[in-house]
Amino acid sequence: MNKKSYNPFEVAQKQFDRAADLLELDKASRDLLRNPLREYHFSIPVRMDDGSMNIFRGFRVQHNDARGPGKGGVRFHPQETIDTVRALAMWMTWKCTVVDIPLGGSKGGIICDPHNLSQLEQERLCRGWVRQIARNVGPLSDIPAPDVMTSAQHMLWMLDEYEAIHGTKNPGFITGKPVGMGGSLGRKEATGYGTIITVREALKELNINPEDTCASFQGFGNVSQFAIELYQQMGGKIICVSCWDQEDQTGYSYRKKDGIDLIELLNITDSFGGIDKTKAQELDYELLPGEAWIEQDVDILIPAALENQITADNATKISNRVKIIAEGANGPTTPEADKIIREHNIFMIPDLLANAGGVTCSYFEQVQSNSNYFWEKDEVLGKLDVQMTSAFIAISEFAKSKKLYMRDAAYVIAVNRVAQACSDRGWV
Ligand code: NAD
Repeated sequence: MNKKSYNPFEVAQKQFDRAADLLELDKASRDLLRNPLREYHFSIPVRMDDGSMNIFRGFRVQHNDARGPGKGGVRFHPQETIDTVRALAMWMTWKCTVVDIPLGGSKGGIICDPHNLSQLEQERLCRGWVRQIARNVGPLSDIPAPDVMTSAQHMLWMLDEYEAIHGTKNPGFITGKPVGMGGSLGRKEATGYGTIITVREALKELNINPEDTCASFQGFGNVSQFAIELYQQMGGKIICVSCWDQEDQTGYSYRKKDGIDLIELLNITDSFGGIDKTKAQELDYELLPGEAWIEQDVDILIPAALENQITADNATKISNRVKIIAEGANGPTTPEADKIIREHNIFMIPDLLANAGGVTCSYFEQVQSNSNYFWEKDEVLGKLDVQMTSAFIAISEFAKSKKLYMRDAAYVIAVNRVAQACSDRGWV
């Protein structure tokens, strides 16, 4: 089946329905939680460097804020759609809840390809997005952050515009800022490190020594690079990574059977996580098709690129050796593929948990920004480890006690907590 035929919001709703059924949730709670509370669609006029005007489409979706202010990134992507943003906003609600931080779920996006925009055009686009949504977001209502193809610099431009509009300093308005400008130490590492903390805990449960394992990754961006760093520090070997090739408009997998060299690959990677294929081949990496990352003979698979990458078609190509899949990306597995993985008894660490390190550290950044007092990196990463480990243990214990698949256990815990908050507030 073609990946494009999956609608991420329908996938997110199907996942929610499964949890709602397991919880026997009442109709009003289902109606409330199946859809976003609010969504904004807007046009962003941007003056291009050649003097012409371009109108970009922007979104912000606030799925649920019963447990606290909305939180969620802003994604730049040429194929961005409102349904992608809706799905991501819903997943943010569950994710904040799984790691038990007092935040709700939101997400934003702009249909654009920053590869084709100059730095000045990107700055105007960031400022334009904030001008359209400034009245509906804020440090106590909805706090944006980076996502695919957005960086600390984009966050700083957005913060600057927000502060200019409001005439006050509001560093808690946005997270993922540069360190020294209100950003938290440890934020850039947090998502990838968080993924590997959950892998570490799963390996403990399966009684496997990390040093005896090898892995294959999809994606070589923010999440993947730091996940690889920590996994290698634990003694694991990475056989293969894949990424998008901007020039050829397709994905490629890069394989080295004796293990990739992270530093070597970082030196030939652009700021969007694209590897220079010519240089990689000169360094003796095998260049394979984009989907080859999933077929590798490894113990651990880490999809850390985009949604809907593991499908019913390629899930059947997963090696029998694979014991753990940790979803670094949001929604990388379609429901049909998930069923196959469940039947093969692979230990699934679902996105809600596996990539929750990012939002956990964003919450730490927000706390630091609001109090204007910043913590040492070890303190941030130590607190991250505590939060991720206890979330993992809570879900895995619940899964074992109720004989549930890990994804179902995470969903049941999250949906139950949010439904309870809505009920306590008198919304349902
Ligand atoms: P990024 O833009 O830094 O990197 C994305 C990587 O995926 C790049 O290497 C890109 O080349 C690759 N890629 C894109 N399309 C691909 C394809 N079709 N095939 C193979 N590779 C492809 O993004 P990121 O911040 O690392 O985010 C990756 C995923 O993790 C997304 O799903 C994002 O929503 C999720 N996530 C990110 C964070 C965070 O803190 N950055 C937090 C939680 C979840």
